[in-house]
Amino acid sequence: MSRSLSGNVMTTKFDKLLGWARKYSLFQYPFVTACCGMEFMSTACSHYDIDRFGAAFPRFSPRQADVIWVVGTISHKIAPILRTVYDQTADPKWVVSFGACASCGGPYDNYATVQGIDTIVPVDVYIAGCPPRPEAVLDGLLKLQDLIQNQKHEWK
Ligand code: SF4
Repeated sequence: MSRSLSGNVMTTKFDKLLGWARKYSLFQYPFVTACCGMEFMSTACSHYDIDRFGAAFPRFSPRQADVIWVVGTISHKIAPILRTVYDQTADPKWVVSFGACASCGGPYDNYATVQGIDTIVPVDVYIAGCPPRPEAVLDGLLKLQDLIQNQKHEWK
């Protein structure tokens, strides 16, 4: 780079730029089924303010969302609906498993409960807890943003 441009121009790879833009413009689809939802909502409120990470705006159509938050217990009855929502979400898309129930069935080791949503959809980030504390939720979000920043991005 010539000396006249030094300090005035920033160079990057287009892939990194796309990752940076995508990680700070996440449109979430909250798939909320149970008590973890209360903690999910508290994370969205002003005290924790998930909006400062560019990830607060919920969309209730999967076609307008790019990250599905699966929050709470998933029964076998509702599992096909989760899969349909996943299939309808436009690429690129990511999935966060919020809490013990979504990740492994939690306390519900029974015939009615899916023992982990990764048997239905691919999961990018797991957040532990029953329910997770808002700090853990924000930590999970930051991990998702790291993943998005560093992954290969397709663009046309
Ligand atoms: S992980 Fe705990 S708080 Fe969350 S939905 Fe299951 S039982 Fe409820």
